[in-house]
Amino acid sequence: MDDGIFLCSISNVSSGNCSEDCAYCTQSSHYHADIEKYKFKDPKKVLDEARRLKEYGALGFCLVTAGRGLDDKKCEYIAKTAKMIKDDGLDLHIIACCGRADIDSLIYLRQNGVDSYNHNLETSKDFFSKICTTHPWQERFQTCENALSAGLGLCSGGIFGLGESWGDRIELLKALQILSPHSTPINFFIKNPALPIGQETLTPEEALECVVLAREFLPKVRLMIAGGREIVFGKDQKALFECGINAVVLGDYLTTKGDAPQKDIEMIRSYGLEIAQNCH
Ligand code: SF4
Repeated sequence: MDDGIFLCSISNVSSGNCSEDCAYCTQSSHYHADIEKYKFKDPKKVLDEARRLKEYGALGFCLVTAGRGLDDKKCEYIAKTAKMIKDDGLDLHIIACCGRADIDSLIYLRQNGVDSYNHNLETSKDFFSKICTTHPWQERFQTCENALSAGLGLCSGGIFGLGESWGDRIELLKALQILSPHSTPINFFIKNPALPIGQETLTPEEALECVVLAREFLPKVRLMIAGGREIVFGKDQKALFECGINAVVLGDYLTTKGDAPQKDIEMIRSYGLEIAQNCH
């Protein structure tokens, strides 16, 4: 296993207008959050983003679409874009994140250059039913299983700070243990006036306890810090790495800006950590 910090980047290739009502998500059409909305970014633009992030040292590149699931149109678009990136010789680990998906569609993605599928369980099964009424948690779990059956790597994690209990956090981590993903993104909820969840941002202490717990349940996973990192921890993010984080989402998130990639890389190096050079 490479010891360095794995850098992953996200491209939100189609944004907003989702029919689902996940109460933590600004892409849901139920809440009218003020976000940029568009359908299918030009694949050439996505390729340019991939090249730029690869230059910064990203090893992973995730193509994300809003919406409940992977329909035929999305599947074709993702396959075409992934193939374009692979054909460019970029040597990036390509992840697709398109919601619910069946095994055949996932196999098709794998055959066209997608290496892994990201689908987050988000929280415990019980708590999920309190924050989303349009699809069940079980559907998320099933899609994760489908990704594994299709021969893809699995990236699955969750979001903390939605008002869930510590018991819910443990249930989420137990479910992830069953799936055994290679990568687990950890997000922290940041309240938005458009969203129905009014929870205050977790304190850095509580957020760190979540990271410690996740590392305890998933000792071998690539534990990736994602949304909310900058707001919860500000400039002092060293403790995250001391508590078991070994991967970082570099650059922007789905609907919010991240720190500039170069700034993040300098911060990681200032802690005496290396940047991973190979997928592990
Ligand atoms: S299904 Fe995905 S994009 Fe749609 S509201 Fe839920 S989390 Fe957001």
